Amino acid sequence: MAAFNARAGRPPGLALVLAGDDPASAIYVGNKLKSAGEAGIRADVERLPEAAPLQTLLDLIGRLNRSDVHDGILVQSPLPPSMGEDAERRIFDLIDPTKDVDGFHPVNVGHLVQNRATLAACTPSGIIELLKRSGVTIAGSRAVVIGRSDIVGKPMALLLLHQHATVTVCHSKTIDLPRVAAQGDILVAAIGRPAFVTRDFVRPGATVIDVGTTQVSDRAIVERLFQPGSKRREAFERRGALVIGDVHPEVAEVAGALSPVPGGVGPLTVAMLLRNTVAAAEARIASARSHSARGHAE
Ligand code: NAP
Repeated sequence: MAAFNARAGRPPGLALVLAGDDPASAIYVGNKLKSAGEAGIRADVERLPEAAPLQTLLDLIGRLNRSDVHDGILVQSPLPPSMGEDAERRIFDLIDPTKDVDGFHPVNVGHLVQNRATLAACTPSGIIELLKRSGVTIAGSRAVVIGRSDIVGKPMALLLLHQHATVTVCHSKTIDLPRVAAQGDILVAAIGRPAFVTRDFVRPGATVIDVGTTQVSDRAIVERLFQPGSKRREAFERRGALVIGDVHPEVAEVAGALSPVPGGVGPLTVAMLLRNTVAAAEARIASARSHSARGHAE
């Protein structure tokens, strides 16, 4: 980061927009703020009240698009329901694509489809990083992604395809899901249903990536999934709630490798956000330099 600071005269800058009172969102934004600070990235949180009109958020994005000190803009989902059903789409479309560190803008999605993304969605990028660093062979493998959302499932499938996996994407209308899922050497579960993926979904020895993070406060579910005296049961007794992944704990008995929840995909998502922020900052100073060089030449 020192090299960037010396060249740019400032650190890379990230604006985190937190609209509304969702407690989980506040925790996620707090984690991102802390990690950015530790990495030497300037991070500013812009807070809007739950009742803020969509126009206030649109105006804020306009201001952040023009900011000289912010290279990246992240708007934490979900937005308050009062902003309307298409609020997220409108906001993601408005963010300057060069500052779109989430990789959700249609321009960046198009670049991802064409395998020339500079800013790709953070969670799927983190999963590719996790697979590579764990020595999992992606090229030639059969990868199954359960979930087809714009933020996880679809970009995940594209990134796996670009790494030369043979990719199947499943969703709520997939017929005989366990049989299809069990064809995967790599199985990515991005559904949002706690412990949905049981051992019959998993080919023995497969690498299983659990993206799901559902807050569960129902004691019966926790007691069904975790043994008395286990760390997770103790955590539930302390907090009265647990974040539970999409993958049932019994899958650990058949999978070759299984990413944990919490502590698996989540921290990598934050790491990729910081990587995207630095990439956006580098691209912005390079573009400012070439403009000023052209200005001198004319
Ligand atoms: P989403 O937009 O709700 O999409 C869920 C997907 O799962 C949809 O494509 C849906 O299919 C599919 N699905 C739902 N029920 C199903 C079923 N019974 N069988 C097969 N497919 C089913 O969710 P998302 O934003 O992708 O997030 C998924 C999960 O990942 C959530 O728990 C979220 O909190 C978590 N997440 C974690 C991180 C992280 O950093 N760890 C980041 C992002 C998301 P249809 O399209 O047919 O409806």
